[in-house]
Amino acid sequence: MKNLLEGVEEILLMGPGPSCVPPEVYAALSRKTIGHLDPYFLEIMEEVKMMLRNIMNTRNEVTIPLSGTGSAGMEACFVNLVEPGDRVLILINGVFGQRMREVATRLGASVDFLEFTWGTPVIPKEVAQKLRDTSYRIVAVVHAETSTGVLNPVAEIGTLMKGKDAIYLVDTVTSLGGSEVRMDDWNIDALYSGTQKCLSCPPGLAPLSFSEKAMAKLNGRKTKVPNWYLDLSLIYNYWGKNRVYHHTAPVNMLYGLYQALYLILQEGPEKVFARHRESHEVLVEGLEGMGLKMLVDAPYRLPMLNTVFSPQGIDELAVRKRLRSEFKIEIGGGLGPLAGKVWRIGLMGHTARKENVARFLAALKTTLGK
Ligand code: PLP
Repeated sequence: MKNLLEGVEEILLMGPGPSCVPPEVYAALSRKTIGHLDPYFLEIMEEVKMMLRNIMNTRNEVTIPLSGTGSAGMEACFVNLVEPGDRVLILINGVFGQRMREVATRLGASVDFLEFTWGTPVIPKEVAQKLRDTSYRIVAVVHAETSTGVLNPVAEIGTLMKGKDAIYLVDTVTSLGGSEVRMDDWNIDALYSGTQKCLSCPPGLAPLSFSEKAMAKLNGRKTKVPNWYLDLSLIYNYWGKNRVYHHTAPVNMLYGLYQALYLILQEGPEKVFARHRESHEVLVEGLEGMGLKMLVDAPYRLPMLNTVFSPQGIDELAVRKRLRSEFKIEIGGGLGPLAGKVWRIGLMGHTARKENVARFLAALKTTLGK
């Protein structure tokens, strides 16, 4: 019988995720599996929690990786914090803000939203007005909108949230590990992320953190959390001091995350962020040098996800296919209204290196016949 895994090639992952995985993380994933209640594993779990607090800049005790991808982190935040009828405000400027609205709606929340043009950031002034007019239980926003490449002003919105009863919920799936996230300073109460972007670990875990205020909302619920698997009180019974079995932790994925966080802290978060910014600058310069136009205005661009218009008259899908087959490079296409119009070029985590940018730009030039 043919083993398909023998045909898996090394691809330079420059799409919207997953990103390239460093050899040390692959090595960590293949270490011997031990029991998920083994005392040595418990030590590893404690370190993972500590390193996550470090990278999120939070002192929250409840800071853990959930089993599941970034969407599990999103779902966990809403399912634990929303009770039917709660007024929730979602700030939307792309696919992932829309997904938040869908998740909150399914839970019976009374969902209100502010929508901003895709490719532009959330405008804090409009949020401030909304917060003056209505009292919300939750306000949610995506920090780095992967569908457009826009960085949202999470710190500024956090200032508006100060002193408010509402829980401030932020998606950092694409930002964590690639640019600064300051959970406590930005007044964020609930935050989630994913391993497969700037953390440079394969997809499979969703780091999450809840502030004391978020935990108080969870503990004060009148109704049970409607999802057993993502019930944070049950999960924390395992990740906290009690170590009570809830579900079998994905042991080797957690080795991978441990190693990925270890590498970021060893290199130094500031240096990692600078590497992302510098790679982004070289990429933009190269793209503009070819006459291509970026979707997002310079001040709001994400370093780790670059959205550029594909040239008129060019079959953008054919370009992506050739990059993949001939040059072993993956980039992403557009989503929603941007489908067929843009390419999304990721510079996430281990991918964010100038040599990768140079290889991509050379391949794109050849493909476009420039
Ligand atoms: N939020 C953002 C901003 C994302 O970019 C993604 C994935 O691309 C998700 C949430 C969902 O994460 P996942 O696909 O890992 O479930």
